[in-house]
Amino acid sequence: MNPIFLPRIARVRRIPLAIAIFLIVAIVGIAIERLVVDSHLDRQATEGSRMILYEIEKMVDQASEAATEMLALADQPCSRAVLALREAVQSRPYVRSANLVDPRSVLYCSSLLGEEHEVIDPKTFVGGTLELLPFNRVTPDSPLLVLRSATHDGAALIAVDGRHLTKALKTFDRTGTAMLRVGDVWLDTKGVVEKRAPAAVATWAVAESARYPLEIRAGYIRPDFLPDLSHHFAIWQVAIIALSTLAASLFWWFASKPQSAAKVWGKALQVGEFSPYLQPLVDVYSEKWVGAEVLACWHHGKCGFVSPEQFIPAAEESGFVVPLTRELMTSVARTLNAVDLPQGFHISFNVCPAQLVEGSLVEDCRDFLRTLRRSDVQLVLEVTERELIVLDDVMRDSLASLRRLGISIAIDDFGTGHANLSLLNDLRVDLLKVDKSLVSCVAENTVEQPVLDSVIDLARRLNVKVIVEGIETVAQWRYLEHHHVHVLQVY
Ligand code: CA
Ligand code: CA
Repeated sequence: MNPIFLPRIARVRRIPLAIAIFLIVAIVGIAIERLVVDSHLDRQATEGSRMILYEIEKMVDQASEAATEMLALADQPCSRAVLALREAVQSRPYVRSANLVDPRSVLYCSSLLGEEHEVIDPKTFVGGTLELLPFNRVTPDSPLLVLRSATHDGAALIAVDGRHLTKALKTFDRTGTAMLRVGDVWLDTKGVVEKRAPAAVATWAVAESARYPLEIRAGYIRPDFLPDLSHHFAIWQVAIIALSTLAASLFWWFASKPQSAAKVWGKALQVGEFSPYLQPLVDVYSEKWVGAEVLACWHHGKCGFVSPEQFIPAAEESGFVVPLTRELMTSVARTLNAVDLPQGFHISFNVCPAQLVEGSLVEDCRDFLRTLRRSDVQLVLEVTERELIVLDDVMRDSLASLRRLGISIAIDDFGTGHANLSLLNDLRVDLLKVDKSLVSCVAENTVEQPVLDSVIDLARRLNVKVIVEGIETVAQWRYLEHHHVHVLQVY
């Protein structure tokens, strides 16, 4: 695996992270949805409770108006008052009954039954004004809201029909619930009057009357399961799923993408994952090391060994070869200083044509040579023939500066690419490194290899040293020894 193409986040870590992102976005979405639902319900309940209060106050107003009228009759005997009581009831649709109470708190006259005798306790009226009753003798199946209006002559009791009250309560959203409270007595939408606190609900809106001791409560018990609202918010839920999926997918896309190669290399350089590998150059006759070519090795933390072929082309293209070569030179100088080198040891680094015209190469080579303990080390720069070498003024200047430092220039991979004879002449190279492909066919009984032979011959005529690369067999060694090639590069 090439580390340049490694995803930013490995798959094993990406899966739980993508799931977590999906869940987080979904949870945030649901929380926002909840807030929106809650505020929607809040608004509905507030509006609903106000509307119901308005309706019920209208009914109580009607009773209050009747009470004021009837109070004038409070000192009259029932026989004279009863007709007026009945008229007051008939002319007012919400009023169920009108009654008169004498100063001793005895209900003595009723629009329904005429003369009566029932002791009334004024203390049962909230604020002395209102009482909510589940039923009375005359209407056992219907609750009543009784309004009391009193003077020192007596009192008038006007009853509002409970059916109108429940009807008003029912105008609230059918998925919610509404209640009328008078003191500690509650009337619900089913017409049930009870002394109990209402069930805990998600949203309670309270509308209190400014004129009467009563209040309306409207609210929703289980907003999650409200069919109307779930329809309302179905689009929202689809949007949440879509958004969560999008967020997770974006993360996945981003995390699967490889980091920029420059970033990967920068980090690798920082943690010292690059190291030089020295490929020996051997003298054919003495069979001793006379030099080495420095190859870049990358030991990646996750991918292990990465061969130069996997990253050098991209590193050349991006310019990363410049800091990489500098790093290799520093490391090689340390190694060479630590060992006992033969006289005139040859050490070569691979550079691309672009590096030759890049300003820092001359400086890096000077630093390298300065760091070396031994002054007789021969520094060689190998320029591959695979890429086109443009011999312009900048290149000429750079090559001249390098030569002044005593650095040799070698054409690498000779026999595979662009180098033509005139360029060889113009470049005034010091060395030809014959590509391994030209020697790979040499076997035990090979007598001649026309291409290899002519390259060797050409080098000799140009007075250029030859190194043949990629020697793997004794037969190849013997063949080149026979053709007077002194230095071979072996694995
Ligand atoms: Ca090379
Ligand atoms: Ca080579």
